[in-house]
Amino acid sequence: MLGYLLARQGIDVTVLEKHKDFFRDFRGDTIHPSTLELLHELGILDAFLALPHQELTELAIAIGGQKMTMADFTHLPTRAKFIALMPQWDFLNFLSSEAIKLPSFHLLMEHEVTGLIESNGRVAGVRANAPAGPVEIHASLVVGCDGRHATTRSSAQLPLHDTGVPIDVLWFRLSRRDGEPENALGNINYGEFLLLINRGDYFQCAFIIAKDSLSTHIQPAGLPAFHESLVRLVPFLQDRVDEITSWDQLKLLSVQVNRLTRWYSPGLLCVGDAAHAMSPVGGIGINLAIQDAVAAARILAPALKSGAVTELTLAQIQRRRELPTRITQTFQVIVHYFLSRSLGNFAPVKPPLLLRLLTPHLLFRRFMARFIGMGVRPEHISA
Ligand SMILES: Cc1cc2nc3c(=O)[nH]c(=O)nc-3n(C[C@H](O)[C@H](O)[C@H](O)COP(=O)(O)OP(=O)(O)OC[C@H]3O[C@@H](n4cnc5c(N)ncnc54)[C@H](O)[C@@H]3O)c2cc1C
Repeated sequence: MLGYLLARQGIDVTVLEKHKDFFRDFRGDTIHPSTLELLHELGILDAFLALPHQELTELAIAIGGQKMTMADFTHLPTRAKFIALMPQWDFLNFLSSEAIKLPSFHLLMEHEVTGLIESNGRVAGVRANAPAGPVEIHASLVVGCDGRHATTRSSAQLPLHDTGVPIDVLWFRLSRRDGEPENALGNINYGEFLLLINRGDYFQCAFIIAKDSLSTHIQPAGLPAFHESLVRLVPFLQDRVDEITSWDQLKLLSVQVNRLTRWYSPGLLCVGDAAHAMSPVGGIGINLAIQDAVAAARILAPALKSGAVTELTLAQIQRRRELPTRITQTFQVIVHYFLSRSLGNFAPVKPPLLLRLLTPHLLFRRFMARFIGMGVRPEHISA
């Protein structure tokens, strides 16, 4: 997104991606109203929504079988009043196909950054492994957008503040029948949490487990016990849990929450998960990364054009985006705390009083929709 926005302003950009395509499952497929609004501002929303997707207009949670609506997106002051669910590779292919129409945008697939080039005390480019062998790419600014295990941030030894996370997530698919939940429904009971996301003819399922408990508790108990726990939580899955015949159908994703205390060094800026790894809670990480990109493009474009990207310019981007990051991560950490308290408490649960009092109120659902759907300090396309 940052590459696209800078190239729209005529700035020469090279994006390096280590894989040969964007095709990977369970990377997070949520495109929130804030991102859809940006696509509208860019004039490409209709083309985007012409691609196959599902639309979530609300998020609900069933605690002990009692369903409560947590967020209702239908009243947001945005063009699209829903979360679009689309495989992330479709989204990235769409964005990159728009970007490569611009003459100053270059996308190099199968280019894995292995380190930074430094010259005169500043980052002056990257080293990468390409299909034909190692290459060096020089640049007046390197932006690390390389995710939670970023090579850029570790090479630059930027200081990291890590927040311990007590949960991991198992992702898998189960088939979905007509008439079954249309939106995203989290189910909590008997010490377990299962999120079902409507993907048309299947549910994308996220099963929250205590950190590192897959190999120590869940697998030793066996697949039949795993099937039983799913059915105990969501009885209508009884007729299809045996679609999971092997642990290989489950993908374990280790959850992290951390952030750099300094997002930059001379010649280098980190954004998105490279600057602040996000948990899947709220499905907010992709959208926060995009908001970083929009803010960075607005602040960087004039400085790149005049050839004057200083540490002050980079600090300005961190200042702009750090507060939304901190608030969003605090929200995620609070949710982790409540989830981890209920994991392992195998008794039936009742919704906490606070949620029973708050969720019937329209104002609460609209506030949550704004927080999750638009985020803190939403950014807008400036040029
Ligand atoms: C289990 C789990 C589920 C999640 N679900 C959701 C969700 O549903 N919705 C949501 O909004 N967020 C979700 N998140 C968070 C979300 O995945 C991240 O916050 C978001 O992807 C960050 O985007 P990014 O562009 O910064 O990094 P990434 O999406 O990680 O992209 C980094 C890119 O850099 C490439 N790359 C990495 N290293 C190199 C290298 N050395 N050289 C070249 N290329 C490289 C990678 O291949 C990748 O394409 C989830 C997180 C987890 C852990």
